[in-house]
Amino acid sequence: MVRPIIAGNWKMNKTVAESVDFAKRLRSAYPAPPEREVIIAPPFTALSAAAEVTRGSFIQLAAQNLHEAEKGAYTGEISGAMLREAGCAYVIVGHSERRTLFGEGDDRINRKLLSALRASLKPIFCVGESLVEREAGNMETVVEHQLKEGLNNLTADDIGLIVIAYEPVWAIGTGKTASPDQAGQAHRFIREWIARRYGPERAAGLAILYGGSVTPKNIADLLAQPDINGALVGGASLEVDSFVRIIGS
Ligand code: PEP
Repeated sequence: MVRPIIAGNWKMNKTVAESVDFAKRLRSAYPAPPEREVIIAPPFTALSAAAEVTRGSFIQLAAQNLHEAEKGAYTGEISGAMLREAGCAYVIVGHSERRTLFGEGDDRINRKLLSALRASLKPIFCVGESLVEREAGNMETVVEHQLKEGLNNLTADDIGLIVIAYEPVWAIGTGKTASPDQAGQAHRFIREWIARRYGPERAAGLAILYGGSVTPKNIADLLAQPDINGALVGGASLEVDSFVRIIGS
């Protein structure tokens, strides 16, 4: 049984003060840890301050990106070791905004996944098709390609350390959620693909999160699908109240 994960991706939102305030309010909303694993992904500038507040609590920190190199002349970039030092346990890799707005291809995403694992960060590896690809009936082909290329050179043990997020691009920030059936079908496809490649045990233990316009209203129906083990939440993770309702649904 996979422990469900609710992860909030804040993107380029929240100052340090706002991040600290959110983390404090989230922490105090739970006198006892919730059943679900809870992750927040503040911007880089707020990670250390958020780590101070969340240390020793049920809240885990994720970064939203990393550079694939360990160190060097990469102006403006951040390494996995720096993110570990800042208090991160997770890092989001391959988000569709990184793929489309920043030109990150499967090969680069693969190097980032390997680099995250080398730095003892657990990657939240995002895959998902565009609207054109879905309408052309290519969801499985696209997702399979992203999995195959993105996971190149990862071992079965590595698979035990990663989380996969299925995020159909057409559902991200658009208010259009994949129906529970559509999402469930994609998650099943991903799990079966992992089972064929890495074995049924790895597949059964893998957390596959759904992302794309998740709200307190639609989360329960999504989580009712057997292969959906949680959610990667953008917009609805920015307010403590809605995030808490999603965690508790
Ligand atoms: C995301 O960016 O990962 C995401 C799922 O965003 P939203 O929930 O706003 O669609």
